[in-house]
Amino acid sequence: MLGVEPKIYTSDDHHIRHDLIDKSALHVLKGLQEAGHTAYLVGGGVRDLLMRKRPKDFDISTSAKPEEVKAIFRNCILIGRRFRLAHIRFGRHIIEVATFRAGDPSDDELIVRDNIWGSPEEDVLRRDFTINGLCYDPSDHRIIDYVGGFEDLQAHTLRSIGDPILRFKQDPVRMIRMLKFRARFGFHMQEEDLEALNNCREEILKSSPARLLEEILRMLESGAAEPFFRLMLAHGLLDLLFPKLSAYFRDSHAEEIFAMLNGVDSMNKQQGYKTLDRSILAAALLFPILDMRVQEQNPPPNMGEIMDLSHTLVHELLYEAYSHFPRRIRQDCQFILQMQYRLTPLEKQRRFRTKIVRQKGFRLPLIFLKLRALNHHALFKTYEHWKQLSKQANP
Ligand code: ATP
Ligand code: MG
Repeated sequence: MLGVEPKIYTSDDHHIRHDLIDKSALHVLKGLQEAGHTAYLVGGGVRDLLMRKRPKDFDISTSAKPEEVKAIFRNCILIGRRFRLAHIRFGRHIIEVATFRAGDPSDDELIVRDNIWGSPEEDVLRRDFTINGLCYDPSDHRIIDYVGGFEDLQAHTLRSIGDPILRFKQDPVRMIRMLKFRARFGFHMQEEDLEALNNCREEILKSSPARLLEEILRMLESGAAEPFFRLMLAHGLLDLLFPKLSAYFRDSHAEEIFAMLNGVDSMNKQQGYKTLDRSILAAALLFPILDMRVQEQNPPPNMGEIMDLSHTLVHELLYEAYSHFPRRIRQDCQFILQMQYRLTPLEKQRRFRTKIVRQKGFRLPLIFLKLRALNHHALFKTYEHWKQLSKQANP
């Protein structure tokens, strides 16, 4: 597969807007090129620019070795032992620069050769999907395409680079990434890739639990959590990673959970750059399950029993699984869940416990109440009421 001439697209073919590109990234690219190196914007950033979206992050690949990058930029540090990367700091903002590499970073046989440098083409062939394999040179507006990613992007096609069975085995997280792009962009998956997913599904249990959780949490933040969880369920990945939670997605709780995820998506899209706290995202998955248990008890459970129930659910669903949600998220999630029964008590209480608004972290259960109100409009009044009280108590 190596040695193909890339397709080149010029500014006549695309409409990349340079005002969507981070100034520091342009500065770094220029610095590298002026020092005589090849340097491109690569990966998801180029894809987003072609889709006329402002990319979240800008990755740069270059022929310069890490030490050479460091010599060019004063504000540069080298990180990572196995994968040497250059981080160039601009205030709080960091631009990551990687040297073109050959081989697949997660292929066991190649692991010893991680820092074997490669050509731009070899670097692209290590990437996951053709739409993520484009290089862009802002100095002459050229897109360099070794894998047909430009045409795939136009056709809304999601396609693995190389043999999908091999690529999914080398790094099973790619299966989740495929569903992520399917959910986020609605692009079409290829028969070959779907078959490979079917064959390699169980390999997912060989990936790093922390990396998997990070991809899943990012999807919960992405504005496309609802379609993503439908896909994770349909393709059997949720059953493998979170079997207990997955069972609830298949029974009478399903519609309520999907409705919560829908609410999460609309709030995350509205908020733009600031996404809902991860504990709120976790609580969105669990609240419908907790609430059904609470509502079916007669007589209704007291606060102590509700706290026990939430604790058990959080432990069973978010801890006893392939990936553990971190302790901070679990604790806040449990707090959010149980506080719902203070904000919207089961029985008419004689006295509203308004002092809870002064409790540390009250903001989280309050935002969660707003999320519930998106699907149960009657709760909006209650939400406004608590918001008012909270404002008065914490001016
Ligand atoms: P997002 O918009 O979520 O950031 P992204 O495609 O930019 O999506 P990143 O995790 O930022 O995802 O990765 C940047 C680039 O690195 C990708 O576009 C892809 O080219 C490459 N990449 C990321 N993960 C993998 C992987 N598991 N296997 C191969 N290449 C990958
Ligand atoms: Mg990215």
